[in-house]
Amino acid sequence: MTSNRTSPSSGIQLSDPGRQLLARYERIIEISQQLASTLDHVSLLRRIVSAAMELTDSETASILLLDPSTGELRFEMAPNIDSGYVDSIVVPMDSSIAGWVVTHGEARVIHDVSKEPSFFRNVDEQINFTTRNILAVPMRTHNKVIGALEALNKRGGERYDDGDVKILATLAVQAAIAIENARLFQQSDFMAEMVHELRTPLMALKTSTVLLLRSDLPREKINDIVSTMQGETERLIRLTSDFLDLARLESGRTRLEVSQFDLTILVRECIDIVTHQAEARGIKITITISDEQFEVEGDRGKIKQVLLNLLTNAIKYNRDHGEIVVNAYRSLRHDEPFVEIAVSDTGFGISKENQAHLFEKFFRVASTANHTTGTGLGLLIAKRIIESHKGLIWLESAEGQGSTFFITLPLA
Ligand code: ADP
Repeated sequence: MTSNRTSPSSGIQLSDPGRQLLARYERIIEISQQLASTLDHVSLLRRIVSAAMELTDSETASILLLDPSTGELRFEMAPNIDSGYVDSIVVPMDSSIAGWVVTHGEARVIHDVSKEPSFFRNVDEQINFTTRNILAVPMRTHNKVIGALEALNKRGGERYDDGDVKILATLAVQAAIAIENARLFQQSDFMAEMVHELRTPLMALKTSTVLLLRSDLPREKINDIVSTMQGETERLIRLTSDFLDLARLESGRTRLEVSQFDLTILVRECIDIVTHQAEARGIKITITISDEQFEVEGDRGKIKQVLLNLLTNAIKYNRDHGEIVVNAYRSLRHDEPFVEIAVSDTGFGISKENQAHLFEKFFRVASTANHTTGTGLGLLIAKRIIESHKGLIWLESAEGQGSTFFITLPLA
């Protein structure tokens, strides 16, 4: 039975479904306000997912976003998937519901996924979950689709209806704007940190010029000041170019110049470049690479930048007369062939606590930061480059003994 009642706010006669709809839209206004004021990425995603479950009366929900640097579609938040596993799932664009929604920019309802060939079954199989039905909508900002929002398993054995599609699509618009805002906020945070980093060399340059203007300075003092100025200018150049590199990589504006090349040759080329710097401190570099060729497909210049960063770090943070060993070998990950490169040094090593921060912006270990030059951006840039080649980067280190940095790249 459907009764008609009067909406208190409008005076309009409403049926029960009409009242329910109004209540849902009132709720979505409340939720949108909460989303707009949440700037922390993870808390924001949690709120979006619980709002999607509540508004569509679903068992669970998930957010998938396009990775700006690789173009891959990945789960960003899915309460029913283990957090350790969720990060590693790349959803195929051409054989998944979310991929279809992102490509076509349209909503899709699947009433019975068991009959749907394009349903990406791997996740259900891995996590022991049974998806019965799905409602997926695109998340769009400025006419660009940034991902998909999915509601799974309508409660009470019911079907998703038009009302569910509309409400989830409305939530997805608000959610996409909130995600973009949180990203912009993070970038502005990065800008603030960057300006802060630039201030130190700029202040040193200013002090040097003031000193140079004094007429009573002896020749050696003048030389000292000029060499400080050279060092600080170089630091400014390195900071600004690293900063630009990272900003481009993080915004997805970096275009990879992809070609096929032999990684072994590139590794040898990079070692040649740093040999002089190593010899100046009596450090010996040994290569233990078999004669096997490791053909990879990628941006040769960018991979060179990563290798040079690992090698110069292995020199900078080594002890005098130390050693560096570079190794490359074949390995398998999820049955796919990879080449793994390991750069080991006999340096100071890195404590467990510092290892957790190593790939963060501007992070430098305090005990070595004063007597080595650096920006604290190199490893993060390396991580972004390797990830954009579908590879991995990590380290193993023991304090006082040395560190080994590993990278993997898929073989062509
Ligand atoms: P930078 O060398 O410019 O400071 P990186 O991002 O390359 O920046 O490295 C960040 C920090 O990680 C370094 O400042 C240093 O404290 C630490 N680090 C990197 N590589 C090594 C290494 N091989 N051994 C010990 N510490 C290292």
